[in-house]
Formats: sequence, structure tokens, C-alpha cells
Amino acid sequence: MGIIRIKDKKFSTFITSDKIKSQTARVAQEINRDFAGSTPVFVAILNGSFMFAADLLREISLPCEIHFVKLASYTGTKSTGSVHEMIGLHADLRGRDVIIIEDIVDSGLTMQFVTKMLAERSPRSVSICTLLLKPGNLQVNLDIKYKCFDIPNDFIVGCGLDYDGFGRNLKDIYTVTN
Ligand code: 5GP
Ligand code: MG
Repeated sequence: MGIIRIKDKKFSTFITSDKIKSQTARVAQEINRDFAGSTPVFVAILNGSFMFAADLLREISLPCEIHFVKLASYTGTKSTGSVHEMIGLHADLRGRDVIIIEDIVDSGLTMQFVTKMLAERSPRSVSICTLLLKPGNLQVNLDIKYKCFDIPNDFIVGCGLDYDGFGRNLKDIYTVTN
């Protein structure tokens, strides 16, 4: 617990690793129950979800495949801001239950893009599993089936999430403070 500094900003403890652990286990149990009898494909979105994905998947008791993808975003000329491309998913998703693992859903635009891209590969289902959701910023209609925490709109770091490249290794989640 306490205050840490990363570059020019101070952060205070917001969600402890114990709470992250118990909520992750709860969500994993929901997935184990909902997908009993299936062999799902987990797709974790790098970089931010690496820690949550590792924690979650240790609690998954289903036979499953795990893939990691990266989203290359580049600033386009469109008014929507950034355009994405999904790199590194070579799996055949036809007829499969796909579960996306994400660190945080903010505006929801990234998840909207990812679900559309995955749906084009004819899976049986596509579900979203996120560690964090900022309901106050959500701009699109997304069905978020699995979620550990709702949080306010403040900037956070830790448990995979970074500030300018730093803080991903922190066990707890920290929120920006003055
Ligand atoms: P969205 O497309 O939902 O607006 O953006 C999701 C992405 O924004 C996340 O994957 C993450 O990279 C970034 N993001 C949103 N809120 C935060 C935050 O509070 N802290 C950090 N470190 N990244 C955030
Ligand atoms: Mg992310």
C-alpha cells in the first residue's frame, strides 16, 4: 500500500493484488462453468493483458488454446482517430468459442474492432473478458460478459497496465494522484 512515483506522476494503491486474485478466480469459475464441454480459444491482447491472462488462465480448468495478438495502431486520417490492425493470430477459429482477454475497456473502440475482426473468422461465439472497465467512458454498445472490476475514469497503472512504458510489473493497481 502507499504512494509510488513513475516519471512525473504520483500514484496511490487502488486495487490490491489479493482483490485482483479473488476477482480473477471468480471470473475464471464463471468461464469454466459457461464453457463446460467446449474447447475454447483464448485470445489475449498484448501488451497490457499479459499479467491478467497468466493469472486467469492458471484458474481455467477447460481444455483450451491460448493465442496472443498485438494491435498495431496508427493515426489515420479518419476522424475516429486511430485505426488498428491485428497482428499474429494464425489460429483457425471456425466453429470455436473465442474468449478475448483484455486489460481494460475504456471507450470500447478497441474491443469493438477486435470483436468484429474475430467474428469475420466464423467462430461459434466471441466473448469479452476484461480485468477492468471504465463504464463512464464507454462509447459503444459492447456485451462484456466477464469483468473483474468497474472503475472510475481516472488513469491507472499496474498489473500489466503502463504509464509511458513503466509500471506493468506492479502487483497492485494504482490510480493517479496529486
Ligand atoms: P479503448 O479503445 O477501450 O478506449 O482503449 C483501451 C486501451 O486504452 C487499453 O487497452 C489501454 O491500453 C488504454 N487505457 C485506457 N485506460 C487506461 C488507463 O487508465 N491506464 C492505462 N495504462 N491504459 C489505459
Ligand atoms: Mg489493452
